[in-house]
Amino acid sequence: MPMSADFQSRLFPHLPTLVDHFQTPFHLYDEAGIRATGARLKEAFAGIDTFREYYAVKALPNPAILAIMQDMGFGFDCSSDTELMLSRQLGARGEDIMFTSNNTSPEEFALAAADGGCILNLDDINLIDRVEEMPELICFRYNPGARRSGNDIIGNPVEAKYGVSHEQIVEAYQRARDRGASRFGIHTMLASNELYHGYMIQTAEMLLDLIEELQAELGISFEFINIGGGLGIPYTPAAEPLNLEAMGRRITTLFAEFAGRNGYQPALYMESGRFVTGPHGALVVRAINRKDIYRTYVGVDACMNALMRPALYGAYHHIQVLGKDGESETELVDVVGSLCENNDKFAIQRELPRISDGDTLIIHDTGAHGSAMGFNYNGKLRPKELLLKSDGRVELIRREETPADYFATLDFTPDSLRP
Ligand SMILES: *Cc1c(COP(=O)(O)O)cnc(C)c1O
Repeated sequence: MPMSADFQSRLFPHLPTLVDHFQTPFHLYDEAGIRATGARLKEAFAGIDTFREYYAVKALPNPAILAIMQDMGFGFDCSSDTELMLSRQLGARGEDIMFTSNNTSPEEFALAAADGGCILNLDDINLIDRVEEMPELICFRYNPGARRSGNDIIGNPVEAKYGVSHEQIVEAYQRARDRGASRFGIHTMLASNELYHGYMIQTAEMLLDLIEELQAELGISFEFINIGGGLGIPYTPAAEPLNLEAMGRRITTLFAEFAGRNGYQPALYMESGRFVTGPHGALVVRAINRKDIYRTYVGVDACMNALMRPALYGAYHHIQVLGKDGESETELVDVVGSLCENNDKFAIQRELPRISDGDTLIIHDTGAHGSAMGFNYNGKLRPKELLLKSDGRVELIRREETPADYFATLDFTPDSLRP
């Protein structure tokens, strides 16, 4: 089952009260679940000298969620100006932040270096000379090309726009060192929503082998390897969850073997987004219209601007109808929003209990890359976000957008010229 039974038992009994008080639609996140997954992550890699998760801010960029990450000792993986600002507003500084940007602008470099800096992860060898002042600690994002296969969401490494190629990687560290860097890390991110733990083990092994080569070639040692995010979650009821514990055991052994050969162990960094928060969020909506033409459509009060994944990747998000679980009478429906795009559908030809107007629907696994991907096409406004706290209180952590927000960018000082 995608959404955990624990989360369901914490949420469902109170859902009618919450729907009444806060009004649908809303994303709701489960602090206890997020903390349980965070603890599992730390436990899985406890045998490695230093392990740290840098939560991928883009997955759920809400300060209330990021504060939980910080409380668990996690850092932040940022890839834009505003993500850096958000992390620093929470007090993250220096090595609490990993800045992994692609096609980096001078403004981003300046902000990355400001305010105590961050771990700068360079995405291209040509960016070395764009860094105003080379930081002491530098990292490169490695793209192994044809040495590895990627997956659907992130693409094949050979075709991916990310990272430094295998042929450039020695020179990259050499040039960074020539410019004054004296501490080194390496990063890669190859898969997205990967459920096979063996793939992640191969990634760790690939980076450990590579730093041994770089060490031999350049005489430098590495403080960390960062295997990126991309750990998958089971969106469909049939999917097998990723075996985190087996992944942890094998990677821990690889680190011990590395230490045996090299006399030291780098730290292991990871920057999961989806794995940490994905299953611990749900989009709660109400059915407002039912339409029977060639198919039956259940219209709900949110649209794809609250959850892009089905339209963008054909992604499956499990849906439950509150109070109608296990009902024998089911029907095949499309669950749709109100946006003028035919791919504005949360589910296509899904077998669900018979839904009446006013029913509450729970769309699972929206805790990562859900609300965050929202947009305003068709003048659609994004829904609010709630947090179910460990103490049982439910808090509004982002209000819904209003027409005033939508029109705010039309409020400007007139500017024109005749060129
Ligand atoms: C998106 C992204 C992540 C997080 O990916 P998940 O699939 O949420 O784990 C981590 N690192 C980088 C560089 C990313 O772009």
